Amino acid sequence: MKVWYECPYCGKKLAMIDDTQNISGVFIKCRNKHCNREIEIKNDIESQSSDARARDARAQKPPDDTS
Ligand SMILES: [Zn+2]
Repeated sequence: MKVWYECPYCGKKLAMIDDTQNISGVFIKCRNKHCNREIEIKNDIESQSSDARARDARAQKPPDDTS
């Protein structure tokens, strides 16, 4: 889904990103002239969703100690 990526400092809409795609290493300058910071656009979907999945998987897994 396309969503606006907003400046984390001033909230100005900077770019549209697909929030299902991993994004990193994209730098953009905030267009708000009172802010004007360089922002790295990052969308780390791995850490957002697979963390929760990994926790669930561990919780459901039976203990390895079978002895
Ligand atoms: Zn800004």
